[in-house]
Amino acid sequence: MSSSTTPAALKAAILIVSTTAAQDPATDSADVTLRQVFDEQQAQWEVHESKIVPDDVVQIQKQIIHWTNQATAANGDNNNTNTINLIVTTGGTGFAVSDQTPEAVSALLHKNAPGLVHGMLAASLQVTPFAMMSRPVAGVRNGTVIITLPGSPKGAKENLQAVIKMLPHACMQAAGANSRALHKGGVKKLEQEAGVEGGGGRGHGHGHGHSHHDHSEHRGGGGGCGVHGHGHNHGHGQGHGHAGLVRHTTPSENPKSNDPSLGPSRRHRESPYPMLSVSEALSQIAQHTPIPQIVTSKVDSSLIGAVLAQDVSARENVPAFRASIVDGYAVVVPQDGNMRGVFPVVSVSHAAPGDGENMPTLKEGEIARITTGAPLPPGATSVIMVEDTVLVSTTSSKTQDAEDGNGVEEEKEVEILAADKVREGENVREVGSDIKQGQLILGKGDQVSAVGGEIGLLAAVGVGEVQVYRRPVVGVLSTGDEIVDHDRPGDLRLGEVRDTNRPTLISAARDWGYEVIDLGVARDKAGTLEETLRQALRQVDVVITTGGVSMGELDLLKPTIERSLGGTIHFGRVAMKPGKPTTFATVPVKDNDGERVSKVIFSLPGNPASALVTFHLFVLPSLHQMSGISPPGLPKVPVTLGHDFSLDRSRPEYHRAIVSVSRDGVLTAVSTGGQRSSRVGSMKGANALLCMPCGPEPLRKGAKVEALLMGGLRSDV
Ligand code: AMP
Ligand code: MG
Repeated sequence: MSSSTTPAALKAAILIVSTTAAQDPATDSADVTLRQVFDEQQAQWEVHESKIVPDDVVQIQKQIIHWTNQATAANGDNNNTNTINLIVTTGGTGFAVSDQTPEAVSALLHKNAPGLVHGMLAASLQVTPFAMMSRPVAGVRNGTVIITLPGSPKGAKENLQAVIKMLPHACMQAAGANSRALHKGGVKKLEQEAGVEGGGGRGHGHGHGHSHHDHSEHRGGGGGCGVHGHGHNHGHGQGHGHAGLVRHTTPSENPKSNDPSLGPSRRHRESPYPMLSVSEALSQIAQHTPIPQIVTSKVDSSLIGAVLAQDVSARENVPAFRASIVDGYAVVVPQDGNMRGVFPVVSVSHAAPGDGENMPTLKEGEIARITTGAPLPPGATSVIMVEDTVLVSTTSSKTQDAEDGNGVEEEKEVEILAADKVREGENVREVGSDIKQGQLILGKGDQVSAVGGEIGLLAAVGVGEVQVYRRPVVGVLSTGDEIVDHDRPGDLRLGEVRDTNRPTLISAARDWGYEVIDLGVARDKAGTLEETLRQALRQVDVVITTGGVSMGELDLLKPTIERSLGGTIHFGRVAMKPGKPTTFATVPVKDNDGERVSKVIFSLPGNPASALVTFHLFVLPSLHQMSGISPPGLPKVPVTLGHDFSLDRSRPEYHRAIVSVSRDGVLTAVSTGGQRSSRVGSMKGANALLCMPCGPEPLRKGAKVEALLMGGLRSDV
């Protein structure tokens, strides 16, 4: 390819054809899915624009004409920023009356491209016979290639993936690139450049563009250390001497099928899911976690941990009346502020409702006994503390309210000492001086703590109910034929494993304030798993499963989510240790009102330490986001390593550690020991996950790393 015809990136436009999405763009997920497919092509594509139109021929055509006329204006010059090289439409390709995208598009095509149509159909027919229900067209208009994808995000993605490697070539030719230069070197060279493999019985493993192999291993910032899969894991450290994974080949793309009914000989031997970095995985979670719902909640302890979905203003003044701050005597301060002298006690005000309502107005020269928090008698300006007074005389008649029935002597006169500069308002809490009626006391987004400050504020001003974000209900499911209840009596038979993940994850999720439903254990059978998940999705907002996401033939989670539940897997592999096969998906479900809602499935690895680490790292941020907590996820703090830590060569590691704070305020981390993913003991006592980079050399004692805090800091003080 000559450099003059090789653009930095080809421009793609996405046209979403959907009457529903045109009314409410929030219902569309095809856009994000397709952008992802383009993004996966290593900066070859730039999605220039996306638009949503209803299933309407005129509107579809208007948009396509607009985009393709930009290409004419550019006159085949692909460096012109206006050139749209590719338009993909999604939706309206079926047999329904309203489906008319192919007709709208065909009428505009200057050239047909049946090869692309064939490519898309052939690929999706391998997935499902329902591919026959899509009627795609493809072709060229002016300098722009146009293809019509089906409407389901999954189908659209599969179709686009089937042809995307061929599209740069097609687009460049369509845009007017020199065909002779483009084809110099023959088909093999073209295949190499496209990163595809030709048929025709060529020997495998020869003549491939090696740079295209396994690029997914290297994706994303921090997604890997740039080393290929090694035969051995290095440096497990901490003296446990466990053997690591042993792998003898480097990963190679060998895409087969994820259809579990095809049996082990046809399954993928390498995960077909691109390897995302942890930060890419977290951004997928942020993007696809459903938006928080708002509910009304009573102000009581059930509010702890909830996040307010509204600003809250004080309904009342606090205090609601002028109240004394001390036990003492209410007085009317004269002009000169001098209150020394002996005064008659004319009334008593207790902190009790109604008390003092009929109290006579206090006059200068009179005083009234008053208790802490009691309302001041009308006319009173200040309160003198009882400590600043002495009793001078008592009443001769006894009042009858004493407990022993004998009555008590009442104060008649009291002397006020050393009070020659008394100010108005002294020892008085004025109305609204703590909180003014109408004042903002808590803001939208504030979280109600268990410390009590927020509940206290709400209670004080008479707010009995508030709007909060509904906290999602979580279901926890273990999977695996070998898994038995953790408390099953008797010895284990060969191959049986006690369910460690379910009790652990249920506890962790409850401790974070979420209602959890125990979904039990599902066997490794596609039908069973599907039925269990369907039922679970009716009851809960987030399903957490463990096991069944490795590469074994009984690892059915991913195919079940995609094929049986019609879900979208946003990621199925993450460059991290432990937790590589962590999977995040959303599934469309009808709620009780018949509304389509999106529910979340996290399929965590089966190994117990991996399950707990990935719960904290990935599930928690999603739960937080759904409940309005921002920023979501564990808090991050810098810590100092208390000893040398070995690093994994190729994946960043989340090392389980104990972080304590010393007398001089330094946070120091020590390892919990062997970090093998099956060793749940590595989580015992751990209050932090250290974010260790990958690399060949150990990190030395004293080095600084970031730690995600799972629990409270230990104190060495
Ligand atoms: P899988 O991904 O299903 O192959 O599981 C990986 C490993 O984790 C296997 O050794 C499983 O036996 C183990 N495992 C899976 N689920 C659990 C569980 N709930 N409790 C303890 N170990 C489990
Ligand atoms: Mg399993």
